[in-house]
Amino acid sequence: MTDENVKGENKKTVSRRSLLKGAVALGAVAATGGFALNLSAPGSAHAAQKKMPAKWDETLDTVIIGSGFAGLAAAAEAAKGGAKVVIFEKMPVYGGNSVINGGEYNSWDDELHLREKHNLGDDSVDLHTKDTIKGGDFYGNPELARILAEGATPALNWMLDDGGLKLRDILNRTGGHTAYRTHTCVEGVGRCYTEALRKIAEGRGATMRLRTEVTWIWRQDTDGPVVGLEVKENGKKKNIKIKRALILASGGFSRDIKMRQDENPSIVPEFNCTNHMGATGEIIRYSQAIGCDAMQLCFIQLYPYAEPEKGILDSPAVYPFRGPGYGIVYVNKKGKRFVSELERRDVVSRAEIATGMKPTYSIFHEKMIPKMGTKEEVEKGIARGRFVKADSLAELAQKIGLPPDVLVDTINKHNQYLKDKKDPEFNKPITDVMLIMDEGPFYAIAQWPAVHHTMGGLRINAMAQAIDIWGKPIPRLYAAGEVTGGIHGANRLGGNAIPDCVVFGRIAGTNAAKEKA
Ligand SMILES: Cc1cc2nc3c(=O)[nH]c(=O)nc-3n(C[C@H](O)[C@H](O)[C@H](O)COP(=O)(O)OP(=O)(O)OC[C@H]3O[C@@H](n4cnc5c(N)ncnc54)[C@H](O)[C@@H]3O)c2cc1C
Repeated sequence: MTDENVKGENKKTVSRRSLLKGAVALGAVAATGGFALNLSAPGSAHAAQKKMPAKWDETLDTVIIGSGFAGLAAAAEAAKGGAKVVIFEKMPVYGGNSVINGGEYNSWDDELHLREKHNLGDDSVDLHTKDTIKGGDFYGNPELARILAEGATPALNWMLDDGGLKLRDILNRTGGHTAYRTHTCVEGVGRCYTEALRKIAEGRGATMRLRTEVTWIWRQDTDGPVVGLEVKENGKKKNIKIKRALILASGGFSRDIKMRQDENPSIVPEFNCTNHMGATGEIIRYSQAIGCDAMQLCFIQLYPYAEPEKGILDSPAVYPFRGPGYGIVYVNKKGKRFVSELERRDVVSRAEIATGMKPTYSIFHEKMIPKMGTKEEVEKGIARGRFVKADSLAELAQKIGLPPDVLVDTINKHNQYLKDKKDPEFNKPITDVMLIMDEGPFYAIAQWPAVHHTMGGLRINAMAQAIDIWGKPIPRLYAAGEVTGGIHGANRLGGNAIPDCVVFGRIAGTNAAKEKA
């Protein structure tokens, strides 16, 4: 998919550089009308002359690009508002990164009031907002971060009530969060949420077309609205007119090695990647080519707990993420801790790489399992060689090739820190619900960073309108989910992507439906 898309992009000969140079040509192009934007420098040998089609092959009311959380939530709300919604999805299956996601959803509350039920302390919209902004090193837009935190709870309740979503009876405190607010759906995979959203969207009349790749966005002129799309459907090129609105929900670009390298050379091609193969950035590039602003594209996240060899993020790989609030311990190959387990993903990833020894391990014991998942999941993980189990810590150390005496000493010390409520080594905040690892069986899982999330993307405002390079909304164009930028800043807190996608997807859909067809 990457190669194909890179080729497609070259064909159009529109690059970011030409977009920037081409800003001076905007007036001239606007005057011509009837042409797609040509943002290349005047006289450029590579000037893109994509002409607006003389006739359309099909006319649709409202189109959404992408069938993940953001696209499905947008579809549901746009359909509710009276739009006739079609989702275009380039892959043969729906759901993108959303369907393979780990099922972790941050919300300060929920209709079951799990935090109160389990006596897990305080939380609020304010605290969630603050953690989100601080966790992104203050690069995130505070207005958008607040909308995420505020909308997370009603969006979760909506999926529970109308979509049939079910949650596990646990709540986790995860890296960078100061409260227990990370919810997990029953199957522990994003499909729980996509199926709930799909049920709501399809129930309201939205439809989906798989194997339909968007290959260009048509905009009338520099101030004008988006008017249509060029697509490749079942191998055939088509031009589709859009009457009401276009919503971009095409996800991130973690699989687009060229784009990754262009934006952040430190994310070298050798890194594994947790994403589905369609997570490429062509829609960001096509949007830039019609004048849409993009921001913070260099902020790319590594997931610190991916399977070390292939980089997959399977169900065992979520345990190290869920565990810190209940006392999971991360150790290097020497059997020593190397970071506070409650640190953010970027900090943990860097600390892992700094050990200079691949992989690192998460260590936990039997009593922690119900706090992080289920016995069945762990049994399956053992059968696949993902979890290693032993009756004693020394035996566990031997099985994974760590010095037994050092691992025993590390866990004993950590147990003492929990009793003392103070971690003199890494200053981890200790809570009352963290479990002392005093009896077996004990478990280990290997972990290593892999490319996971692109925080940067298209600039949007609070109405999820896509913003152009001059700061104005592009008429009839909306964006939501990982394709957008500026919400998470330099680092996204784990569990914040689902609420981001669902909350802004809902906003985009609601506002798109208000456009006059
Ligand atoms: C393995 C994994 C686990 C994760 N776990 C969590 C978690 O537990 N909690 C959390 O909050 N976040 C998690 N994340 C992050 C989160 O899943 C993503 O940020 C989120 O799924 C993005 O949703 P989206 O709707 O924006 O995009 P996606 O779900 O990726 O959907 C975008 C869709 O657009 C399609 N598309 C792209 N370009 C085109 C085109 N040109 N034409 C047509 N279609 C196109 C893609 O094929 C894709 O299907 C995880 C991510 C991964 C990869």
